[in-house]
Amino acid sequence: MKCHNCGGSFEQITTDLPFKTGPHSIIIIKELPVLQCGNCSEFLLEDAVMEKVDAIIAGTGKTVEVEILRYAA
Ligand SMILES: [Zn+2]
Repeated sequence: MKCHNCGGSFEQITTDLPFKTGPHSIIIIKELPVLQCGNCSEFLLEDAVMEKVDAIIAGTGKTVEVEILRYAA
C-alpha cells in the first residue's frame, strides 16, 4: 500500500492516539498499531484496528473528560 499523500511506503508502527468521543471528552489509546508513511507524517488505521477502536470508544463513559486506555490486540 502506498501513501496517498506522497507515494511513500507505509510502515507498521505502534503509537498513542487521541480520539474525540464527545464535545468535551477525549480518549487516548496507547500502543495502537497504525500504518505510518516513512516519508511524510501521514498515517492510517487498518479496518480491523478501526473496528476495535470503535468498540473501545463505545465502552467508555461519555462524561469523562480524558480517559487513557491501552489497546490490547
Ligand atoms: Zn507520505
